[in-house]
Amino acid sequence: MSRCTLTIALTTAMMAIEMASAQSTPPCTQHARDCPAPPIIDASPPGAPVPPPSDAIVLFDGKSLSEWRSGDGSPARWVVRSGYMEVAAGTGGIATVRQFGDVQLHVEWASPNPPKGTDQDRGNSGVFLMGRYEVQVLDSYGNLTYPDGQAGAVYGQYPPLVNASRAPGVWQAYDIVFHRPRFDADGSLLRPATLTVFHNGVLIQDGVTLTGPTAHQARPAYTSHPNRLPISLQDHAHPVRFRNIWVRQLER
Ligand code: MG
Repeated sequence: MSRCTLTIALTTAMMAIEMASAQSTPPCTQHARDCPAPPIIDASPPGAPVPPPSDAIVLFDGKSLSEWRSGDGSPARWVVRSGYMEVAAGTGGIATVRQFGDVQLHVEWASPNPPKGTDQDRGNSGVFLMGRYEVQVLDSYGNLTYPDGQAGAVYGQYPPLVNASRAPGVWQAYDIVFHRPRFDADGSLLRPATLTVFHNGVLIQDGVTLTGPTAHQARPAYTSHPNRLPISLQDHAHPVRFRNIWVRQLER
């Protein structure tokens, strides 16, 4: 085999691997309950909070909600106690005061213990990049739901590759790499958003390409938006807890 032929063969093989690992189309009809359930695995045991690196912006240090506000711009009204914040049902989602584009984001969370409810009505919250692209937070420990709505799903689009959930009340972590969509000057889409997510240290989203904003019973198309927007957390009326949230900006 000539060097040129070998190079072409290798390139083709690498492209095939890349295409196999980076999904660009959701695998199932939205919210399909017959979509294959991600295999359940045991993640590593929980550890101490992961300290932020020196170039990170700390969004929540366990004490103050100063980096957050309610949807209407008023101070965030979630409860802060003993090093964590907890969703105060009915007060609405909270969003960062600062705005972000491409980011690496670390978020720790815990489902209510004892657990209450089933399916989507159990420990539901969410991490929304740019306020519109949700990585689902749910108690998926012994709790079945549609795979594109379980913990670590890109909501309504991509189930996680595996279910690495820990038990209710046990701290869990998401490490998220998000690249925002790019729009040209007239607002048409140049490049869709992508998400890579680790759940408790385990890869669960491998550079998936988002079809557009995440939504319930809809896969809306992209609409042009600013290059930087707040990160938000969802109030789904369940007392989910969060701690140790930090972000690294990937666009300098
Ligand atoms: Mg949610």
